[in-house]
Amino acid sequence: MDLLEYQGKQLFRAHGLAVSEGRAADTVEDAVAAADAIGYPVVVKAQVLIGGRGKAGGVKLASSAEEARQHASKILGMDIRGHTVHTLWIEHASEIASEYYAAVLLDRSAKQPLVMFSTEGGVEIEQIAKQTPERLIRHHVDYLEGLSRAESLQIATEGGAEEDVREGVADALLALYEVWRQEDATLAEINPLIVTPDRQVKALDAKVSLDGNALYRHPDHASLSDSRNEDPIERKAKEQGVQYVKLDGDIGILGNGAGLVMSTLDVVAQAGGKPANFLDAGGGSDAEKIKQAVEIILANDAVKAVLFNIFGGITRCDEVARGLIGAFEEMGPAISVPFVVRLDGTNDEDGRRLIEQAALPNVHPAKTMNEAAEKVVALAAAQSGRQV
Ligand code: GDP
Ligand code: MN
Repeated sequence: MDLLEYQGKQLFRAHGLAVSEGRAADTVEDAVAAADAIGYPVVVKAQVLIGGRGKAGGVKLASSAEEARQHASKILGMDIRGHTVHTLWIEHASEIASEYYAAVLLDRSAKQPLVMFSTEGGVEIEQIAKQTPERLIRHHVDYLEGLSRAESLQIATEGGAEEDVREGVADALLALYEVWRQEDATLAEINPLIVTPDRQVKALDAKVSLDGNALYRHPDHASLSDSRNEDPIERKAKEQGVQYVKLDGDIGILGNGAGLVMSTLDVVAQAGGKPANFLDAGGGSDAEKIKQAVEIILANDAVKAVLFNIFGGITRCDEVARGLIGAFEEMGPAISVPFVVRLDGTNDEDGRRLIEQAALPNVHPAKTMNEAAEKVVALAAAQSGRQV
């Protein structure tokens, strides 16, 4: 679960990381009132779950109520790369002497927390890693030992933090590590972590992702999710208990088991296609669930063809076939895209026979995963009039 900047900053503050005083606002009037209360100059910031807001015009300084009003009306409702701005964060503007970068994340391959720090902040981390990799410190932490003050100070020093703020940077890193650990975050990032002219170290931005599987340990985190910022199809899927993630391609994917779905995405990509979603119908999927899943996949207008990749174990292929037939019976004319269906495993012959007997329009069987992927990529290309 990704948090908005101001929500991340609330967690920062709770763990002793310095942030500017601010208020959230959903209307222009609220924004101006917040700015008046905070005192000028303020910075008016779009709250969306995507970075690069500054470049997109979603972060503006205001030195008067009039300017705050102008910026607030311009930014509210703005579209930042597909994300509509519903909320603003108004905070007291900071003076900046230096912009650093700091992050704590879970390094899955090392199976350890990773602290990253650079004095080249304010630009995207990908850019820092590419242009000045020698100035990006990467430090793994022993989870049981935790991050010590000595380690933290060493990171600040090796990273080249200015001498008079090394202690301050070390404190910030320790606090950030506690945000990551105690809040069960998968990522806690500050870009930029600034040094002010009076040598305070402060988080000017916040990017925090919480581990959704740990939500039960943090009842207070439930209030942090704002359904307005969720994708409407993902929200519907969540309500129906379907594991769905929207992607930006045009080939709808359904599989059973997260691992199989992941490899299906890979195989489709390898065949030159672009998956439109991740959808794990789960083990033991019954016909009703398959029908729901088809509806969710087709709710995405970008979908030009659908690939069903089922490996029957607990899931019975005949049940999946019944679900697909049921979906066609109910949605019939609404289904205007081709389906490629690969059924393998428990009751696969029954499943294939059912589909054949139902004579569903534009449904193509495939024997192997590779064959299925190639077929669906070709069908999607034909559907959108592209050349393969
Ligand atoms: P992002 O573009 O989504 O990463 O949003 P940020 O919160 O990082 O803001 C973008 C940039 O705006 C920062 O890198 C700063 O250069 C600038 N900025 C943000 N807040 C302030 C502020 O309080 N004072 C000043 N002078 N600049 C700010
Ligand atoms: Mn930023």
